[in-house]
Amino acid sequence: MSSNNIKEQMDALVTELNQHNYNYYVLAMPSIGDFEFDQKLAQLAKLEKENPNFMAANSPTVHVGGEITKNFETVKHKYPMLSLGNTYNEQDLRDFDERIRKAIGDNFEYVCELKFDGLSISLTYQDGKLVRGVTRGDGKQGDDVTANVKTIRTIPHFIKATDAPAHFEIRGEIFMHKAAFLRLNAQREEIGEIAYANPRNFASGTVKMQDSAEVAKRPLDGFIYFLYTDHHKFKSHWDSLNAVKSWGFHVCEHTKLAKNIEEVYDFIHFWESERHKLSYDIDGIVLKVNSFAQQEELGFTAKSPRWAISYKYKAAEVETILEKVTYQVGRTGAVTPVANLKPVQLAGTTVKRATLHNANEIERLDLHEGDTVFVEKGGEIIPKIIKVNLEKRKPNTLGIIYPTHCPECGTELIRAEGEAVHYCPNDEGCPPQIVGRIQHFISRKAMNIDGLGDETIEAFYRNGLVRHISDLYSIHNQAEALKELDRFGEKSIENMLLGIEKSKEMPFEKVLFGLGIRYVGETVAKKVAFGVKNIENLASATADDLILIDEIGERIAESIVLYFSNSEHLHQIELLKTAGLQFEVIETIISLDSDKLIGKTFVISGVFEKFSRDDLKNLIEANGGKILSGISGKLDYLVAGDNMGPSKLEKATKLKVPIITDEELLSLIKA
Ligand code: AMP
Ligand code: ZN
Repeated sequence: MSSNNIKEQMDALVTELNQHNYNYYVLAMPSIGDFEFDQKLAQLAKLEKENPNFMAANSPTVHVGGEITKNFETVKHKYPMLSLGNTYNEQDLRDFDERIRKAIGDNFEYVCELKFDGLSISLTYQDGKLVRGVTRGDGKQGDDVTANVKTIRTIPHFIKATDAPAHFEIRGEIFMHKAAFLRLNAQREEIGEIAYANPRNFASGTVKMQDSAEVAKRPLDGFIYFLYTDHHKFKSHWDSLNAVKSWGFHVCEHTKLAKNIEEVYDFIHFWESERHKLSYDIDGIVLKVNSFAQQEELGFTAKSPRWAISYKYKAAEVETILEKVTYQVGRTGAVTPVANLKPVQLAGTTVKRATLHNANEIERLDLHEGDTVFVEKGGEIIPKIIKVNLEKRKPNTLGIIYPTHCPECGTELIRAEGEAVHYCPNDEGCPPQIVGRIQHFISRKAMNIDGLGDETIEAFYRNGLVRHISDLYSIHNQAEALKELDRFGEKSIENMLLGIEKSKEMPFEKVLFGLGIRYVGETVAKKVAFGVKNIENLASATADDLILIDEIGERIAESIVLYFSNSEHLHQIELLKTAGLQFEVIETIISLDSDKLIGKTFVISGVFEKFSRDDLKNLIEANGGKILSGISGKLDYLVAGDNMGPSKLEKATKLKVPIITDEELLSLIKA
């Protein structure tokens, strides 16, 4: 290999590994398995050793992960946040117990706790008031996420307790309940955002969000498992847990005192199966020597306390047979392959199906018909095929071939460049898309039409009564046909017609969400509705216009533009308008804070430390300024934050547009 090639290969590895590190530590969304990561890191280290002159300054071999998000203040921990020694087998626990008995004798107890699978947090209280919440970070220092922590209901902002020290620190684990995870992840997928792999990643991604208002919308919970203070009046961990419980902290009720290692084993065995019934994930149990005096005697190693250890459960995994792969077509036309499995018991439930996500996943697994596969519950929730047991593959079996045509309507499937998902483009003629769209429209979060349900819509479709959303608004003309439908009495017809009539009052943002434009979820619909004010503006907006609306990225913008480029969609909207549905937002009168920016135009670009882009936009508009969609010679100011696109910067420089910071914008207003 030429030296040029070696350098290129090294640089590529550096870029790739840094991105994985960022995804893992900052976004808390791992993008590579640990093993593969370590292999690549080792490969890079080897190349660096052989070619030290090509070593990059930002090489991940020098600095492995643990980065502190730059947008939060970094805070040094008063008491370092150590990790725990851990083990997967009972012999190790026995050895641990032996070591302790050698050091302090036989007279001691253990506190057994569940090992919650979330992220650890340190909370500081001063005179009964929560003053700070800090993530573990690298153990010595972490991110100050106080504002976010304060949104968690089970973490008290104030405590009233006569027996609490004036200053103390409390440690615990923040997590998300499984049900909330499923619900929120479904919402993310609906608007085209990447789904989190498990509740832990979701919790950790949430705690590190910049916008605490957004954090508040995501239900997090927390359990407390350590109390730290300089003046401990408690004799044991157990006593301190009981005290903090009485001060109002959330301590897990499944915490137990054990007199010896045998009782610890009982605890472990009990939770081995029972854990699947908990509403949150645990990945093991934690064992702590109870007495503080004995803890002190045992002391610490460089990394962890000698008086505690964790025992981790192995991920639940089971072997079964892939019976066949079926394909589901959703209301947006997205095709999802589903593995139909020979039913098997896994982690307390019967598993019959596993998601295969998309064609890439089938390819990655190299699935063949009738394969024996290993199934795991990812994050203990959604069954997933991890790999094929090749030893059991029967000879001459065929690989699973992704269909080229829609299983429901026969139309050729399309897959957009760079996308993993196949779509059926026949949105006007593909039954599950037609039915799904109307079902979505009437659903609770959209138009919330009383007297109509998913099954009714299906029956209507089967009987040729509806094909489009707009057909609902003329269904009162079909009285005879309605009466002939099974189990559809006069009273229910009346109810339904009333519900449909009432839906004409639903606000524009609900109607917009109800239309079911790809990637336009509930929140996005609201932002878009208020951003454009009415459907005419929306129909004529370009992707560039739409991107200026807070939270609207390129993908959503393009999807909206595509939607309105379809004449059938425009026709449908006309019909709905004629029927009397709301297609503009109810305006509230805006009064300006000042006229300092009247006649001035602005483009906002990049990210800002103190403001969201929406804050700045509101600020400019409240002072009479106007936001433009793109940079041109006529633009008065480009307000630039970090990470602005280089092409924008270049264009502004070329056209001699003044580039200002958010601070400079503030002084323009104050001037
Ligand atoms: P590990 O990450 O495997 O080193 O395990 C240590 C981590 O376990 C701590 O940093 C905590 O975040 C977490 N943990 C979960 N439950 C407990 C618990 N009951 N006691 C102590 N640590 C816990
Ligand atoms: Zn189809």
